[in-house]
Amino acid sequence: MATTLVTGASGFIAQQLILDLLEQGHTVRGTVRAAAKGEALKASLAPHSERASEIELVEADLERDAGWADAVAGVDVVHHLASPFPLAVPKDPDELIRPARDGALRVLRAAKEAGVTRVVLTSSGAAIAYGVKGPMPERFTEADWTDPTHTADCRPYIASKAIAERAAWDYVAGDGQGLELTAINPVAVFGPIRSAQVKTSVDIVARMLDGRLPLLPNVGIQVVDVRDVSAAHIAAMDDPASIGERYIVADAFRWMREVAAVLREAHPDRKRIPSRGMPDFLVRALALVSGDVRTIASELGKRRILSSDKVRKLLGRDLIPADEATRASAETLIRYGAV
Ligand code: NDP
Repeated sequence: MATTLVTGASGFIAQQLILDLLEQGHTVRGTVRAAAKGEALKASLAPHSERASEIELVEADLERDAGWADAVAGVDVVHHLASPFPLAVPKDPDELIRPARDGALRVLRAAKEAGVTRVVLTSSGAAIAYGVKGPMPERFTEADWTDPTHTADCRPYIASKAIAERAAWDYVAGDGQGLELTAINPVAVFGPIRSAQVKTSVDIVARMLDGRLPLLPNVGIQVVDVRDVSAAHIAAMDDPASIGERYIVADAFRWMREVAAVLREAHPDRKRIPSRGMPDFLVRALALVSGDVRTIASELGKRRILSSDKVRKLLGRDLIPADEATRASAETLIRYGAV
């Protein structure tokens, strides 16, 4: 059994990973930005794991050196998940790029100095399939890289993930030689939440359930279940063949109208789930005044398909279907009173 560190322990994916690591008998330490978040985390996870009280918490911020040496001390495997994931687009892209890139480097340097070799990094499909200049390829693979300089097809969050992952590989190839890095690259993560505080990607489902998204723009996302993202992290940590590799974790692509249809079928009592489309011209008009809508406008009609062949081999099984992940998000958002 391993002693593991999960950075950004309060996050959506981290909560699932912590539960799975505990379930498999591993010891878990987590980083949080504030002690109060750690207490809230333990309380949220207690109903799901008898071992929740054993989670050790260390305070550390991606933008500061303090705490990281303590966080990695005596650890066998670092799972680095912490990264800013805001729902709104910041004015200055550096608000996301700096903590994502410098934070990843802080964690890697601390690991190297402490003699910890194994690191599994949650990167993103965002580091693979954006910044595309010409026509969209039929399928992206782990060999593809987002071009963060092509900002017409790459918003700040996406750039932050591409730049952070690239910086991590560059560090490992240079001063960080000896570190054994694997990158996990999920697409939009749905699936069960473990507490009402979770926001991030499941917010799309929440907005459909509670009527904050009354019309459906003609955009789509590839979906994956949080349980599979966690499974990929653990399979990677257990399999030395994954060292030096990237793994896309992605099930099916779904247009927003298809996600809404799944929700309407599962929750016919929720009358505010949208069914009508938002015309493209309206999205483009709103994009003139809203930075957030601009990111939607740049996605109109685009199908980005990322191949999950490699992670299916790592896991030795198929992934949880996208629609099941959508239903699990909805069911738990309702159960925890988040919508
Ligand atoms: P969450 O926002 O739920 O989790 C992000 C975590 O990072 C939180 O614990 C947050 O802490 C922490 N964090 C943010 N900024 C800082 C900082 N400056 N210092 C320390 N910690 C910080 O998002 P997810 O669980 O969805 O994302 C986890 C990882 O997975 C991220 O790296 C994200 O980019 C990646 N990912 C997510 C996808 C998705 O669809 N959800 C898809 C692909 C990749 P706090 O609670 O204090 O804010």
